[in-house]
Amino acid sequence: MIIRKSPAEIELIAEAGKVLRACLDMLAEAAQPGVTTKELDRLAESFIRSRGGVPTFKGYRGFPASICASPNDMVVHGIPGVTKLKNGDILGIDVGVTLKDYVADAAVSVGIGAVTDEAQALMDVTQRSLELAIEQCRVDNRVGDISHAVQSYAEAHGYSVVRTLVGHGVGREMHEDPQVPNFGPPGHGPRLLEGMVLAIEPMINMGGPDVEVGPDNWAVYTVDGSLSAHFEHTVAITADGPRVLTVC
Ligand code: MG
Repeated sequence: MIIRKSPAEIELIAEAGKVLRACLDMLAEAAQPGVTTKELDRLAESFIRSRGGVPTFKGYRGFPASICASPNDMVVHGIPGVTKLKNGDILGIDVGVTLKDYVADAAVSVGIGAVTDEAQALMDVTQRSLELAIEQCRVDNRVGDISHAVQSYAEAHGYSVVRTLVGHGVGREMHEDPQVPNFGPPGHGPRLLEGMVLAIEPMINMGGPDVEVGPDNWAVYTVDGSLSAHFEHTVAITADGPRVLTVC
């Protein structure tokens, strides 16, 4: 069941989204060579709690941390750890914030130190595919229009789209209906209606689309070891068009 949110609820999700964006900006600054993802996790948790929020991921199905930190060939769901980030890594940082019972979800990929042109291009294309997807968040479009926007742009650049992980409705819970795949034909899927709030999150691989879960049963890796990038925003569908809620 797709839960449509009232304008007042959308404002509450946007409040959570503001805290989340400030947290992600802080983490992107802090993510430097020599820093561990566990240190980033601690920074995130104290930041979110200092703003009156709760890190949504912590304890979710037993997830042990406040952020997902996924370097290089790790696609998503990385548990922060003690390995130091190195120059040239790319790092996906995914954060959820619950504030006043409403949830926002967003992610960025960042370069650590100086990254290769190829790695930067992968991140740029992934971010742009998210922007194109957001442009499709209009009343009477379909979920498939979002999906197609991501897939067509990413594949036109020679990349592939992860199939087994998808975006989702968000707001009262972290994961609500509908699913928002990053692939598929336009004009299909649920109709977009005013008040729907979606977490749109392209996961784009430099190589093939196949992924596998690692030994900790959380981290998802590309099967071929190629780099993967991830960007995510929480977006409300309004009568005036898309409204990105995970912004300052
Ligand atoms: Mg999400």
